[in-house]
Amino acid sequence: MSTVNKDAIVDVVASNLVSSANLIANIEQKSEQIKNENKEYNAFITQATKEQLIAEVEALSTNKNGVLFGVPIAIKDNIAVKEMRMTCASKMLENFDHPLYDATVVKKLKAAGAIIMGKANMDEFAMGASNETSYFGPVKNAWNTDYVSGGSSGGSAVAVATGSVYMALGTDTGGSVRQPAAFNNIVGMKPTYGRVSRFGVTAFASSLDQVGICTRTVADNAKTLEVIAGFDDYDATSSHISVPKYSALLEVNLSGKKIAVFKEFLSEGVSEEVRRVVDEAIAIYIALGATVEIISMPHLKYVVPAYYIVAPSEASSNLARFDGIHYGYRSPNAKTLEEIYTMSRAEGFGTEVRKRLLMGTYFLNHSAYDAYYIQAAKLRRLIDADFQKVFESFDIILGPTTPTPAFKFGESQKNPVDAYLHDICTIPANLIGLPAISVPGGFTKKDNLPVGIQLIGKPYDEVGVYQFAYAFEQKTHYHAYAKKGGQ
Ligand code: GLN
Repeated sequence: MSTVNKDAIVDVVASNLVSSANLIANIEQKSEQIKNENKEYNAFITQATKEQLIAEVEALSTNKNGVLFGVPIAIKDNIAVKEMRMTCASKMLENFDHPLYDATVVKKLKAAGAIIMGKANMDEFAMGASNETSYFGPVKNAWNTDYVSGGSSGGSAVAVATGSVYMALGTDTGGSVRQPAAFNNIVGMKPTYGRVSRFGVTAFASSLDQVGICTRTVADNAKTLEVIAGFDDYDATSSHISVPKYSALLEVNLSGKKIAVFKEFLSEGVSEEVRRVVDEAIAIYIALGATVEIISMPHLKYVVPAYYIVAPSEASSNLARFDGIHYGYRSPNAKTLEEIYTMSRAEGFGTEVRKRLLMGTYFLNHSAYDAYYIQAAKLRRLIDADFQKVFESFDIILGPTTPTPAFKFGESQKNPVDAYLHDICTIPANLIGLPAISVPGGFTKKDNLPVGIQLIGKPYDEVGVYQFAYAFEQKTHYHAYAKKGGQ
């Protein structure tokens, strides 16, 4: 087994504080690394220019106290960074070069001293689970380039996994941070709905979207959440609940803690290899003193249908703004007002986005609304009630992040329904807004691909989620395996 030299964020900050020469050398080295690695992985859509990096470093000279002082990071390309091109991986926004403001999360990261190295590749408008829907081409898996990176935050996950950056923000509407994290052997956290401001984040499905964090370690993840979490005047859905100092609360004794495992997450459709990894994780938690019980969650079979009604419906409304007039691409062939709308949208959006907008528009249509959207909303209630009940008796829910490890390019396109079903493990946390994390859980024996373990917690209990994740990480050290290393 080979291990990777992983400077945790604290070490990078310490090195940067030694001298400004160190800081500049570190940033230059990362910038060069990103340029080279992008040829292989395609994790970035836009890299910060030299001038932008100099300006970012200069802005730091007055503030050396930031907890992320000089730490190179990446931002998913659906989160606004002032004056840095933002495309959402779509032709629609290919030339949107001058966002006028920073998203609140970006503002907070800059204030903490982070250096934004560029905008990470993603599935178009965050719709997808393989990063193959990006207008700018797919992202390759950091572990094995024959495989997909996962998505939709594939670029963010790969940028962290290859060591180009120490942290990358993604967004998670149905698993888009946790799934690529699992595929690339990194830590991916989706906080509770409302925990982090979404001001400046391009909306996909507003009742599900949340900003998430990709890092190599649980400690780095906790440190980042401390920076970006909290109420924001600009986001009415953000919460006033106070933000704990997560990174100081990672260590805990797990004896007596109770873990639930859903039988349905270990049955049909879940690969043997993934099942073995989950069994091993269960054994580790038992050795750490926790008790584990396998329980049934009958409504789980409805989560994918409910999600694929709610998400496209909300997307069809959110993406109405891209009409060739307010924003984005305008068809040069349009001759009438009607044509400006129809042709700009037909030419500006890719196939997956158009498919979802069609579905969503149909579900919200007067004649279909009751039969689809309302039913999905009711299912959400039922699923929520199920989870509340589980949390009366358990501290956390453990399972696989995905039913299988990463797949090869083209496979998910063969059967789109199967591809949608693949999101079954991650979607519940979005439908009811729970915090959930994916941590490196081990590797498949056959192809040596990473497998993620998911932990789902109670609302606003990111502390608990991190504690369970940290205990596992410290015991297993799977996060420290070099890419292509494995067992
Ligand atoms: N794979 C899911 C989808 O395509 C989730 C995407 C996301 O979380 N942004 O909708």
